[in-house]
Amino acid sequence: MTNTQLPTEAQRFILVCSACHELAAMKPPREWTPAWGSPPPHSHWDGEPLCAVMTRTGYRSAEPMLVET
Ligand SMILES: [Zn+2]
Repeated sequence: MTNTQLPTEAQRFILVCSACHELAAMKPPREWTPAWGSPPPHSHWDGEPLCAVMTRTGYRSAEPMLVET
């Protein structure tokens, strides 16, 4: 009989807004104006859109990024 237990070495990562480093969620923003285009798949944890950042194509929601806890 084997009694091997995998060590819990899996590191925990959290999703944060790459602009302000607040917690981000894998869900669209709670409020979104269609005039801004299609809603991004991520939002701040509280439902606010991720921070707007200037890109070559204009202002867009910041990309979320994974950080180690
Ligand atoms: Zn942000």
